[in-house]
Amino acid sequence: MESARPSDHALADQANQQVDFLVIGAGIAGLSAVARLARKGSVLVVTKEELAESNTAYAQGGIAVALGGNEDVALHYEDTLAAGDGLVNPEAAHVLVEQGPHRVEELLDWGTAFDRENGELMLTREGAHSRSRILHANGDATGKEIAVSLLRHVRTLPNVRLMEWTTGIDLLLENGRVVGATLVDGEGGILAVHARATLLASGGAGQVYSDTTNPAVATGDGIAMAYRAGAAVSDMEFYQFHPTAFSQPGAPRFLLSEALRGEGAYLVNAHGERFMQRYHPLLELAPRDVVARAITREGMDGPVFLDMRHVNKDLHARFPGISRFLANYRLELNRDLIPVRPAAHYLMGGILADVHGHTTVPGLYAAGEAACTGVHGANRLASNSLLEGLVFGALAADAMISDASQQPSTTRSITPPSAESNTSEADTERWIEDLRSNMWRYAGLLRDAQGLETMQHKLDALAATMPRGLSRRAIEARNLHAVASVIVASALARRESRGAHYRNDYPQHDAEPRHSVMQNGKLTFQPQSLTVAHV
Ligand SMILES: Cc1cc2nc3c(=O)[nH]c(=O)nc-3n(C[C@H](O)[C@H](O)[C@H](O)COP(=O)(O)OP(=O)(O)OC[C@H]3O[C@@H](n4cnc5c(N)ncnc54)[C@H](O)[C@@H]3O)c2cc1C
Repeated sequence: MESARPSDHALADQANQQVDFLVIGAGIAGLSAVARLARKGSVLVVTKEELAESNTAYAQGGIAVALGGNEDVALHYEDTLAAGDGLVNPEAAHVLVEQGPHRVEELLDWGTAFDRENGELMLTREGAHSRSRILHANGDATGKEIAVSLLRHVRTLPNVRLMEWTTGIDLLLENGRVVGATLVDGEGGILAVHARATLLASGGAGQVYSDTTNPAVATGDGIAMAYRAGAAVSDMEFYQFHPTAFSQPGAPRFLLSEALRGEGAYLVNAHGERFMQRYHPLLELAPRDVVARAITREGMDGPVFLDMRHVNKDLHARFPGISRFLANYRLELNRDLIPVRPAAHYLMGGILADVHGHTTVPGLYAAGEAACTGVHGANRLASNSLLEGLVFGALAADAMISDASQQPSTTRSITPPSAESNTSEADTERWIEDLRSNMWRYAGLLRDAQGLETMQHKLDALAATMPRGLSRRAIEARNLHAVASVIVASALARRESRGAHYRNDYPQHDAEPRHSVMQNGKLTFQPQSLTVAHV
């Protein structure tokens, strides 16, 4: 059922809610920020589902961090730049690799139990990393361990209120400054929360595609909210498709971590042949976009498989979560070929932000997958995103604290969002599925002008029947449409192939790498040296 429209009186009461800091999202970026914000003021953290539900909680492979001193840090920087295919913001990459070890030490202090052997932290390797530098936990449940330990830590802090099942609707603006957000709670009640500083740590948007490794919460809400508030979003055409999601009719697109290839898995085609030698000298550990396109091409002749039958290790012990999942399908890593194909996985683009989380709108900060600092350029290096959330979440908190000397607004000029629904729940679901399957078909891994223009027409048609109202799904439908529209416009305008963005009709690189920036309906391309201050 759609929620009823709240009375203006109820809204006015709720509008009195005030905090120092509002954080939308309780994944690694949000919680990393909260750990600092709580020392300096009251913090409200909202999350759409249970606290445990986020992309962070699903991260398997691990967190990349250079714990081996200066040389290791320098190599991590080089690998990050190389994976990003000319578009990485060097400042952001520096900050990531240099501050990463300190933030990970902090995680260890807070009790995060990374896997160890004889007391030493175990390190594995993933695609496009020049050395083993990935910490993991419980074999293949790294994100869950980090999320649990961060939450445990945050719960010990004063000043923090955690609200589950509460969805951010829109940002509150006053004289061009973000002063909080409207929210809808699990019972359909509308809240207006005023804050000195608001952080969007709302994660990615994998749900914009029908095939994705992302959980249901990843609908790009924060990006759409920021965009509607006039913030610039950048590089939205760069969606990383993970090469190896489980591929069986009726089964979820469960991620089969890159760490499997790090531990020696081969990719074989329907004829049982390894094929990566035809695509890249790094073979199975080539950058993700190369592997994903290779699998798509080989997949035209039949299924593609991960093959670990030659790996002489106890794979059940190393990958317990993946092994448990595969057992549901009577498959075993040591014994069987495992069918795989790509799925949408990680958004490199997002709300344009500097390394301190500042966006182009005062009062609004962004960190983690929702943000685009340029740290991943056109393609993310495997396992750099947990580190991104940890490092840039903390830096955004520091900026929010130092910028927030201004008193929170006392003006109560809120336009209540319309709660009137125009569709049934079933129709809203069908509308969303239509958008997602068409995005996969026309704006997925291999793109061209014809497909992208077709998608634009479909988005125009979908706009005419856009779900209204304040049910969570209606809110998500509108956000998915906004995010899809920016992805498609940016992908159409980028007439080159770079990183994760591949155009069949423009397979070459442009000479100059440029960032796409979309703001208030206008798309521009900006030089590689783009910063928030330029927009
Ligand atoms: C299957 C899988 C495996 C992965 N493996 C790895 C890996 O091994 N290593 C690695 O580095 N990265 C990995 N990633 C990527 C990584 O997990 C994410 O990029 C990272 O966790 C994002 O963190 P975040 O804090 O920015 O967002 P998230 O962890 O996604 O958190 C977003 C939060 O925002 C909330 N939210 C969203 N919209 C709203 C709204 N409107 N109102 C209120 N709350 C909202 C959500 O409920 C959630 O709490 C993986 C991702 C997936 C899906």
